[in-house]
Amino acid sequence: MNNPSLSSLPGLLEPWYRENRRDLPWRTDREPYHIWLSEIMLQQTRVEAVKGYYARFLDALPNVAALAACDDDSLHKLWEGLGYYSRVRNLKKAAEVIQATYGGVFPREYRQVRALPGIGDYTAGAICSIAFGLPTPAVDGNVLRLLSRLTDDATPIDTPAAKAAMRRLLEEIYPESNPGDFTQALMELGATLCGPNRKPACEGCPCREICLGYQRGTAEALPVKSPKKERRQEDRTVFILSCDGRYALEKRPNRGLLAGLWQFPNIAGHYSTEESLRQLEKLDVHPRQLLREVKRKHIFTHIQWNMTGIYLEVSEPGGNFSWFTPEEIHTQAALPTAFRQFWEEIDNV
Ligand code: SF4
Repeated sequence: MNNPSLSSLPGLLEPWYRENRRDLPWRTDREPYHIWLSEIMLQQTRVEAVKGYYARFLDALPNVAALAACDDDSLHKLWEGLGYYSRVRNLKKAAEVIQATYGGVFPREYRQVRALPGIGDYTAGAICSIAFGLPTPAVDGNVLRLLSRLTDDATPIDTPAAKAAMRRLLEEIYPESNPGDFTQALMELGATLCGPNRKPACEGCPCREICLGYQRGTAEALPVKSPKKERRQEDRTVFILSCDGRYALEKRPNRGLLAGLWQFPNIAGHYSTEESLRQLEKLDVHPRQLLREVKRKHIFTHIQWNMTGIYLEVSEPGGNFSWFTPEEIHTQAALPTAFRQFWEEIDNV
C-alpha cells in the first residue's frame, strides 16, 4: 500500500464535501448523542431507511438520560425492523455507563468513548472527530473501499490487519483543522461517487489526480474481499395461532439470536401439517381449523432460516403463550423481521 500523494487528500476532499454533502438529519449539529445514534443505526442499514427510525427514536428518547431509563420492550419497539438488536441493547448499556460514570455527560476522550459498550474503533473515531474535533479516523466499509482504490491495494479489506493498516495510513494525513469534516468527507465519497455495487464515478471525483486505482484502471476490480463462508441452513416451523381475535406470542430467551424479542411460537425442523398438529397438542394447544401455510426465509449474518408458517385457529388460548390483540402487537410487541413477515400476511388469511 503506497501512495505518496495521499497527503493532499484532505485539501482535495474538503471543498468537494462542502459543495456536495447530502443534507442528513444527523448533520444539523455536533451533539455526540445524535452522532452516536446515527452511526449505530447506519451500521448494516441504508441511509434512507435510517432517517425515519432516527427521528422516531429521538422523539421518544431525546437524550442519554431518557435512553438509560427506557424499558427493554419500548426500546426494542423503537428498533423494530432495523435488525441486529444487540446494537440497541448496547446503546442502552452505554447510556447507563454515561449516567453512572460521567454524570450524564458524554465523555470526550477517545479512550473513554471506545470503552463504552457497543462502541468499536469506527464509531469511537466518528464520534470523537465529528463531535469533539479530534483527529481520530473512522474506518468503515465505505472508507476501506475508497482507500483500497486510492492506493491500488488488493489486500482483502475484511481483515483486522487491513483495517488497522488503513487507520494508520489515515492517522498520518488527518488535518488539524476540521477533522470531523474530513471524516464525513471520506464517508461521503465512499458512499456516493466511489460507492458499492457499481462502477466508480471517477469523472466527477475530486481525487482523480491522486487515485492509483483510477490511473491504473484497477478501481472497478477493487476492493478485494475474502471468500465468504457458506451460511448454515436451518428449517423452522412457525405457528401463527389465533383465538377470538388474539394471537399467540412468546418472548425469546435473553441471550443469543434475537434475544428478548417477541416471536410466534416455533420449533426447529420442517414438519408436515399432521406432524405439526401433533407437536401443538404436546404444547397444550388444540387447533380447530387450518387456515393457511406459507414459506418464507430470513437471512442472518451466518444463518439462513427456511421457515414454514402455519396459520391456525385454536379453540382456546392455551399453551404457555401471551395472547395479544393486533393493536397490542402494533404498539407494544417488537416482532423481528423474521417473524413480522408472517404478521404482514395476516390480512390474506
Ligand atoms: S477516482 Fe474513482 S476510484 Fe478513485 S477515489 Fe475517485 S471515484 Fe473512487
